[in-house]
Amino acid sequence: MVKLPIYLDNNATTQMDPRVFEAMRPYFMESFGNAASRNHPFGWKAEEAVDWARETIARSIGADEKEIVFTSGATESDNLAIKGVAEMYASKGDHIITLTTEHKAVLDTCKALERKGLKVTYLPVVTEGFVDLDRLRDAITDKTVLVTMMHANNEIGVIQDLTSIGQICREKGVLFHTDSTQSVGKIPFDVQKLNVDLASISGHKIYGPKGVGALYVRKKSPRVKLTSQMDGGGHERGMRSGTLNVPGIVGLAKALEICVAEMDTETARVRAMRDGMWKSFNAQLDEIYINGPDPLVKPEWRLPGNLNVSFAFVEGEAMMMGIQDVAVSSGSACTSASLEPSYVLKALGVGEDLAHTSIRFGIGRFNTQEEIDYTVQHVVTAVLKLREMSPLYEMAKMGIDLKTVEWASH
Ligand SMILES: *Cc1c(COP(=O)(O)O)cnc(C)c1O
Repeated sequence: MVKLPIYLDNNATTQMDPRVFEAMRPYFMESFGNAASRNHPFGWKAEEAVDWARETIARSIGADEKEIVFTSGATESDNLAIKGVAEMYASKGDHIITLTTEHKAVLDTCKALERKGLKVTYLPVVTEGFVDLDRLRDAITDKTVLVTMMHANNEIGVIQDLTSIGQICREKGVLFHTDSTQSVGKIPFDVQKLNVDLASISGHKIYGPKGVGALYVRKKSPRVKLTSQMDGGGHERGMRSGTLNVPGIVGLAKALEICVAEMDTETARVRAMRDGMWKSFNAQLDEIYINGPDPLVKPEWRLPGNLNVSFAFVEGEAMMMGIQDVAVSSGSACTSASLEPSYVLKALGVGEDLAHTSIRFGIGRFNTQEEIDYTVQHVVTAVLKLREMSPLYEMAKMGIDLKTVEWASH
């Protein structure tokens, strides 16, 4: 028997790996020292742990340990990268380029800078969610100080070609930040190969703790400078003050270490479950649409565990009621405070109707094939049942083009 409820929302957060918890435990208890205390063994022990974590994280992403700044999570890392560069390089220019499909941590940071008078270009994406590289090249001006583009998208899993984006930024002499929260630990991530100058990481998306993250800040060719956003004791080489969250930092490093060590087998396992799920839906249902790149056509450009599907004529909210034992996320209105359907799907050109029927499945380390089978079966049953009650689905099946229907009242 499969244990209920089933967690399939691993793009929102992940369950902490017990090995991570074990690594963190001593730093809550007997090894509680302040890593900035230089005068006694309590401090030294904490500092040693932080040094290990810094080295481990740096090694995992092809960086140097002096290039890692610890933060409270990817939201803070995004803020520090974007606001920090904008302020530091204000005399060079006042223009930032980003994508319409970025996480709110990036979009709202850019909006805050716009209110302060900076100019921000929000580049559109093509149907599958990729940035158009020619448009990016054309958008860069001599006033551009930063390009910020995510690596993998949290809703639709599309992976951007960072190597090419980074190359364009290099050619133009513009700094390049990436929100790599969803990609680090899941797919190969190397700051040299990908040509990135700043990168945001979060603990809780990689089976580590919540409330801890890191920002990679390139130290040479080019040397990136940041204006700190938090004033205080001058921790993290002055870039981020505040007593270090030692257990969290150890947890972040342990989580990343495990992800990297197990990446090959885990990618294959999670990808097989995701692909199987998509194939099963296709075999049993019509009128379903993938959001983002088709995993069976472009597997290398989609996060291994992510599947985002629109089940036409089935409202996402109704669907989630129909599969109550499965925790997923929907692109329809009621899951968020706003009344709008997902802005990411909108940016892909997905119509409002289809956006409301989208469901995101996020498969992760602790999911089993049994859980996937259970989910497929219940989703298919729910879709068939809900469509049975849908006059629109019936009309569509009769070959009536709904766009040409003239409704009696508006
Ligand atoms: C989760 C997430 C964030 C926010 O990370 P926190 O550590 O929760 O602040 C930012 N960007 C992306 C792409 C995410 O998936």
